[in-house]
Amino acid sequence: MFSYRHAFHAGSHADVLKHMALVAVVNHLTQKDTPLTVVDTHAGAGLYRLDGDYAATSGEAIDGIGKLFAAFPLAAAVAGSGAACAPLLKDYLALVAGFNRSGTLKIYPGSPFVVQALLRQEARDKLKLFELHPTDSKALAGHIAQLEAKRQVVMARQDGFEGLKALLPPPKSATGSQRALVLIDPSYEIKSDYPRVADCVADSLRRFATGTYMVWYPVIPRPEAHDLPRRLKTLATQAGKSWLQATLHIGQRPGMQEVVMPGEQQRRGGMTASGIFLINPPHTLKAQLQAALPDVLKLLGRGTGQAWAVEAGG
Ligand code: SAM
Repeated sequence: MFSYRHAFHAGSHADVLKHMALVAVVNHLTQKDTPLTVVDTHAGAGLYRLDGDYAATSGEAIDGIGKLFAAFPLAAAVAGSGAACAPLLKDYLALVAGFNRSGTLKIYPGSPFVVQALLRQEARDKLKLFELHPTDSKALAGHIAQLEAKRQVVMARQDGFEGLKALLPPPKSATGSQRALVLIDPSYEIKSDYPRVADCVADSLRRFATGTYMVWYPVIPRPEAHDLPRRLKTLATQAGKSWLQATLHIGQRPGMQEVVMPGEQQRRGGMTASGIFLINPPHTLKAQLQAALPDVLKLLGRGTGQAWAVEAGG
């Protein structure tokens, strides 16, 4: 426990998939006037230096957000112009560019800062964060303290699976509406994270059936990792809720073999695929991802096995 540090993986292909989808979901949910509560059960440190030791050691950001920015330069992304790419990819790159106004890609925003950048103060949107790691929770608190809108954000150094229970259902607005997005993004450092995610989603749907739930998971040759999206699909179907699953496989570098153990992955060039599973997704998300993922894969794909998929139902 606690050996995982997201700083090694910030800006990787997995973050690109997760955060691009997050931009689409939050942008959609903030179109309505009524307040939105966002809960991030596994928040990480919030902001990451891409010119620091962690990112340099893993090289994952260079192969992820770095390649996207090389193709679609920062200044153009900030201005919302530049080379033609799918609208969702452009929105995501513009958001990351907003953290790098010097013109060089140095900072990568984690999920708390991706979400916070899109929330509205006037609508009284709220962001609730959980992070257990002693160092990362301290870093997260420091980053939040720098925010102008810090009163919009509350964080706790607490187990996110447990902490979420007290936040659902979210508070009623003056007009009686209740709206929430929950991001569940564990490190899967311990095998029990897989069943805990499924149990947490099942419990959350009982507490607040109309919430939007988004789970990130690794696509790796482990039975628990294969089972998780299947269990989530069963939960959505049983609850009569719509769902969406998207995967991004960047493929193996020529000459690399299939990796089996998570520890091995670190040494052998990392995980090559991941997925997101959403319950009650925005109806616009499928088309947005279908337009953006081909552009992403064109730049991040490495050869054998590269693929993307978006499936929805319910
Ligand atoms: N959501 C972040 C993002 O997209 O930028 C990345 C989160 S990282 C994959 C998972 C984080 O969960 C790690 O920082 C880890 O320390 C933290 N963590 C692990 N178990 C936890 C738990 N039970 N509750 C809250 N945080 C936990």
